[in-house]
Amino acid sequence: MKSFSDVLKAHEAKSQVYCPMCTHTVEAMVTFSGKLAKVTPGQKCAHCGSSIDAGFVFRYDRAA
Ligand SMILES: [Zn+2]
Repeated sequence: MKSFSDVLKAHEAKSQVYCPMCTHTVEAMVTFSGKLAKVTPGQKCAHCGSSIDAGFVFRYDRAA
């Protein structure tokens, strides 16, 4: 049984993130918050250098 604080506590992991600018999938840090996984803000695409804040998580660790 998860407590409310556990749900709120986000953690990060390296995942594959889709870059909408260059349509490549790059490795980036992803923040997990409950069932949601989203790109940790402030990162840049390793391929084109664009911000990938708007990208989406392509794949994330099953154990998360
Ligand atoms: Zn890119």
